[in-house]
Amino acid sequence: MKVFKFGGASMKDATAVKNVCDIIGAYPNQKLIVVVSAIGKTTNQFEELVSAYYSNDELRYKDSLNNIKQFHFEIINQLQIESSESLLNDLNDVFEHLSRLFSHPKVENRPYQYDQVVSFGEFLSCKILTSYLISTGIKATWLDARKLIRTDSSYQNGQIDWETTITLCKQSLLPLFEHVDLTITQGFIGHTAEGHTTTLGREGSDYSAGILAYCCNAEDVTIWKDVPGMLNADPKFFKDTKLLESISYNEAIELSYYGASVIHPKTVQPLQQKNIPLFVKSFLNPKAQGTIISSDAHRDSQIPSYIVKFDQVLVTISPKDFSFIAEKQLTDIFEALSKMQVTINLMQNSAVNFSILIDRNKIDLDQLNLQLSNHYHIKYNENLELVTIRHFNERIIEEMKGEKLCLLEQKTRTTARFVLGNIN
Ligand code: ASP
Ligand code: MG
Repeated sequence: MKVFKFGGASMKDATAVKNVCDIIGAYPNQKLIVVVSAIGKTTNQFEELVSAYYSNDELRYKDSLNNIKQFHFEIINQLQIESSESLLNDLNDVFEHLSRLFSHPKVENRPYQYDQVVSFGEFLSCKILTSYLISTGIKATWLDARKLIRTDSSYQNGQIDWETTITLCKQSLLPLFEHVDLTITQGFIGHTAEGHTTTLGREGSDYSAGILAYCCNAEDVTIWKDVPGMLNADPKFFKDTKLLESISYNEAIELSYYGASVIHPKTVQPLQQKNIPLFVKSFLNPKAQGTIISSDAHRDSQIPSYIVKFDQVLVTISPKDFSFIAEKQLTDIFEALSKMQVTINLMQNSAVNFSILIDRNKIDLDQLNLQLSNHYHIKYNENLELVTIRHFNERIIEEMKGEKLCLLEQKTRTTARFVLGNIN
């Protein structure tokens, strides 16, 4: 059995949905679990809907809901599957349910309500894809991920209950393959023991594919993307990018940890555990090789990879009494950061300074000041870039630094990381 994952971009309109169907159709008699995300940017639109709901802005809410509805019905029209009565009923039920939310008392628990609402994006895409596949003569069935992937109740960031998920896959997913070869399910979605819907974190559909592959002992996973595979740099910012044809699980985890956004960072771990190969391929050129991620590490160091994170802020924290940065000070600092749910991209300390690099849009500096200013001075530098180079050499580093100011640098044998700013 294979697992395929199609993201929003691969399903962005009717032509794209047809292309997905062609790709699936090229694997006849192959047992396939197909994991899909919401169509195009639907998840962002649902976030807008949730934001309107909590702003009590009924007009904006209705507007957003209408946009989502029209967008999906337009695709159904173009795919000419309007005749599928059950599809139309399913979709109408969702939109009717959502249109009534404003007439009920507001749900206080926002992360909970976010998951209940935003998860409809994947429901809609699954329903449309399954109906379209069936309309073209491909036998497909849909299985609700809310019956498969069990999480705890950390809404918007559901943590997987692996044992229960394995049992649920054995009970309800694997037996389906006695009757059909193709099962479609939602990425990004799970459910709690009480049956409430959860989501796994933005862009979490890749992770769903990894989870299901692990729980069903799949032979491999393919993530279908709009790029030829894992590249050694983001083609939006670099010319002459190269395809990484074969990298190890470890290299893939490192690259995604440092910010390569081709696959969700959590995806690789369950696959590595069971030695399940992961392919990253282009849905625009499905016959091309793409990237294979496996336990084979022998080509990892052949091509240097570049990852750049923009809009970084370097925060330097120093004890007011001039004491050393030691366990006690680090505890204070990490407590504050953890309370604020800040993710650190890089850190470094000297005797009396502790520096952390953070995405500018993910930190409230006033809040941090408030938390720490009794005992610490806080200084910061904005508009910085974090450059990570895997398998670097000195020439590459000099090239990347160019005329920029290097505020901080860290090197291991495989990875060089530096923080760059403009010289004023
Ligand atoms: N649709 C969700 C998102 O956009 C999950 C995913 O795309 O993987 O975040
Ligand atoms: Mg997406």
